[in-house]
Amino acid sequence: MKCVICNSPNIEIKEVEEEIQIENDIVLIPVKVHVCLQCGERYYDRKTIRKLEKIEKEIRTNVANLQPIGKVVRVPETV
Ligand SMILES: [Zn+2]
Repeated sequence: MKCVICNSPNIEIKEVEEEIQIENDIVLIPVKVHVCLQCGERYYDRKTIRKLEKIEKEIRTNVANLQPIGKVVRVPETV
């Protein structure tokens, strides 16, 4: 397997956190994906994509088991 972006053969399975946004919330989902060590491109297999879709659906229907880890905040105005 070679990276389609940079042509590097250095691709490894790594545990990463995939970030999905649901309205104003950001949900991190730990997944194992192939990652190009050179440019960081991630390659998702069908199983992982299905898992992400399933979790997103669970979040939208409020049945997912979510654990709060912090807040996303914004400074109200530019100074
Ligand atoms: Zn690459």
